[in-house]
Amino acid sequence: MKMADYYEVLEIAKNASQDEIKKAYRKKALQFHPDKNPGDAEAEKRFKEISEAYEVLSDDSKRSLYDRYGKDGLSGAGMGAGGYASMDEAMRTFMGAFGGGGADSIFEAFFGGGDFSGASDRGSRMQHRQGASKRVNITISFEEAAKGVDKELAVTNYVSCHDCHGKGSASANGVKKCSRCGGRGQVFEQRGFFSMSMACPQCHGEGRVITDPCKTCHGEGVVKEKQRVKVHIPAGVDTGMRLKMSGYGDAGQGGGPAGDLYVFINVEPHEFFEREGNDIMLTLPISFSEAALGAKKEVPSLYSHTCRITIPEGTQNDKIFRVKGEGFPNVHGQGRGDLLVKIFVETPTHLSERQRQILREFGESENASNQPKSKGFLDKIKGFFR
Ligand SMILES: [Zn+2]
Ligand SMILES: [Zn+2]
Repeated sequence: MKMADYYEVLEIAKNASQDEIKKAYRKKALQFHPDKNPGDAEAEKRFKEISEAYEVLSDDSKRSLYDRYGKDGLSGAGMGAGGYASMDEAMRTFMGAFGGGGADSIFEAFFGGGDFSGASDRGSRMQHRQGASKRVNITISFEEAAKGVDKELAVTNYVSCHDCHGKGSASANGVKKCSRCGGRGQVFEQRGFFSMSMACPQCHGEGRVITDPCKTCHGEGVVKEKQRVKVHIPAGVDTGMRLKMSGYGDAGQGGGPAGDLYVFINVEPHEFFEREGNDIMLTLPISFSEAALGAKKEVPSLYSHTCRITIPEGTQNDKIFRVKGEGFPNVHGQGRGDLLVKIFVETPTHLSERQRQILREFGESENASNQPKSKGFLDKIKGFFR
C-alpha cells in the first residue's frame, strides 16, 4: 500500500516549523480521533496516517532522514515502511502531541478551548452535547395564515453563560480533567470475561470536574434566559404545520451545537371563510328570486379586492362557483388555491300579505318543467312503491 507524503497528509509546507507541524496535527487529530468517530474505519485510518506523519516530522532527526531518503530512510530509525500497525501507537503519538503544553491541553481542545473548527460531532459520547430542542405553539388568525406574518416569540432558553463563556468555571484553571476516567467520561469494568463500558461515576460522563464553579451558572456553563425570537410565518400555513428554526433551542454544552426551535402553528377559524386544502370556501346566501332569475353578486376575498360573480338563472342550492386563484398560496411552492363560493338559497320569511298573494299565484302557475329535480324524484318514488 502506498502511503501519501507526510507533508501532504498534514497539509503543510515542506519547510513548516515545528509549531506549524504540531498545530496542523492537533487540528486533524481532533477531527479524526476515534472518540469522535466511533466505528468509522476511514477516520481510524486517517488518524493513524496523520499520527505516523506527525511522529516522523516532529522529530528533527527522523524528519531529515525522511526528507533525504523518503520512508525507506526510516526503517533504521524504528519506523517500518508499512505505517503504523496499531491504534495504540497512534494514541501514544496523540497523547504526546497534546501532553507538552500543560496537562489539560487535550481536554481543552476537546471542550472548546482548542483552535480547531469543523470537527465532526458525530458519535461524540458526551463532551459536545447538543442543546435541547424546544416546541412553542403559536395561534395566528385566518388572514395572517393567508398572507403570511412576522411574529415575535418569547422563549426561555438555556444560553451559554456570559460570565464564564460556557466553561462553567470561574477561573481558567478551575476545570480539571476527571482523574477517575482520564477525561474520557467512560470507565471500563471487568465482569468475568467481559469488559463493560459505563458512564464514569465521578464525573457522570462529563469527563471533567469543575473545582472552581462559576457563581452565575453554578458550573453548568449555561443559564436560563428569556429570549425574543423573530419568526416569519409564510403565507399558506395551516393548523398542524410546524416551522423549524435551526439553532434557536437551548445552547449546546462543551461546544456542542444548539438545539432547534419548532414552532407549531394553529390557525383560528374565520367567521365566513373555511379552508379546504388551499381552497377557501365561502357560503353565499341568496334569495329565492335571485336564484330563480339570476343575479350579479360581489363576494369578499381575503386578498384585498372583492370578486364579482354572476349567478345564472335557475341556480340551485349548494351550487359552487369557483373564483380562480383567490385561495391560499401553496406554502411549499408554486400555485395557489381558489375561492369556492357555495350558494345557499334562502327561503323567504315574514312575508307581507301582498308577497303571500304573489307567491300563491306563482305556485298555481308552477309546472313540472319549473322543477326538473322534483319531477324526477317523484317518478322514482312511484316506481319504488309499486
Ligand atoms: Zn458561568
Ligand atoms: Zn470521570
